[in-house]
Amino acid sequence: MTEGTKKPFSVREIRNEFPALRQLVYGKNLIYFDNGATSQKPQVVLDAINRYYSKDNANIHRGVHFMSQKATTEFEEARIIIQKYLNARTREEVIFTKGTTDGINLVANSFGELLSAGDEIIITAMEHHSNIVPWQMLCQRKNLTLRVAPINKKGELIIEEFDKLLNSKTKLVAVTHISNTLGTINPVKELAQKAHAVGAKILVDGAQSIQHMPIDVIDMDCDFFVFSGHKVFGPTGIGVLYGKETLLDRMPPYQGGGDMISKVTFERTTYNELPFKFEAGTPHIAGGICLGEAIKFLSGLDIVAIQKHEKELADYAQDLLDTFEDMTIIGEAKKKTSVVSFSMEGVHPFDIGTLLDKQGIAVRTGHHCTQPLMDFFGIPGTVRASFAFYNTREEVDTFIAAVEKSINMLR
Ligand SMILES: *Cc1c(COP(=O)(O)O)cnc(C)c1O
Repeated sequence: MTEGTKKPFSVREIRNEFPALRQLVYGKNLIYFDNGATSQKPQVVLDAINRYYSKDNANIHRGVHFMSQKATTEFEEARIIIQKYLNARTREEVIFTKGTTDGINLVANSFGELLSAGDEIIITAMEHHSNIVPWQMLCQRKNLTLRVAPINKKGELIIEEFDKLLNSKTKLVAVTHISNTLGTINPVKELAQKAHAVGAKILVDGAQSIQHMPIDVIDMDCDFFVFSGHKVFGPTGIGVLYGKETLLDRMPPYQGGGDMISKVTFERTTYNELPFKFEAGTPHIAGGICLGEAIKFLSGLDIVAIQKHEKELADYAQDLLDTFEDMTIIGEAKKKTSVVSFSMEGVHPFDIGTLLDKQGIAVRTGHHCTQPLMDFFGIPGTVRASFAFYNTREEVDTFIAAVEKSINMLR
């Protein structure tokens, strides 16, 4: 965490920074409750995109000219902003990727090369497809075993069952920090200790945590931490893989191409040093710079106050929804935040979502890229409201009234 003076958190002031929130949808004030899918962008990020393409656009790292050097400096400064925000030890530990999915695939392919037949990987029953499928592909390719740590009906990881899966063959634990469907916060620091005790590494999927809570990779002691720019108020197509330097050093490159090499001949190629070894080809330069801008914006805010505000919104919404007849809240972990998922007897989630949309309210319906989790709960999908710091209690009130109206129309 970066130190310094932080402005007291004010939801009114924050909203002013987000032009997308000031629009009408079907003549109604937009209520944006789909932050789990992607976040809106503050003016500083929009300005940075415009500034980059208007003035600074150039390819980076090898340019002799003014613009190229300026773009290189900005891109590399963004890396340092992100390094500081994550409390990573060095900038070499911050690899730019396309997003969470890309970061996990990088680890599965590169770290995966260090594994051999019979090794085991543990995931949990609440993972996003992007933290399931890359491991299945790796296990198939290298003859490894994938184990799934179960959850209880509240949507909490069952720690005793997780413990039973851990053994000397376990080489990696890949776990989400916060579930995008349930809002469950996993005890990743504790899981890291347990993984390390058997000599395994841990990858934390931070796609849903970096925008909602302070992140400190040293304190968490994770080996890898991945997130997407677009869920943390930055652009799409850019994300970050944090990895411990000693580990990244041992890992082979993922993709080959420009920028990731040191010397190429037809006989033999040597690779560039970190972080460039893992950044083949022209990166998303504008994306990196603007993600830096988004993280700078976030680091100027009181994240602890934000955490409290979002938790209050989620608790408030959940308590009100819970009073509806035939309503099931999906995900009632003791430690949860920013997400409320529900299903309603006899009503399809998609129909509720469609009626909410007509009232200007954006939610997500369906399986939320967690089909095995839906199978566990025995439902086809949920309606999910997911909050960000710019959402208000009044919006929740409007949402609850709209849910009630929608249900009455459907039954
Ligand atoms: C969104 C999400 C992902 C995938 O992120 P992409 O930006 O689509 O790569 C992975 N895990 C979780 C928990 C997510 O919420």
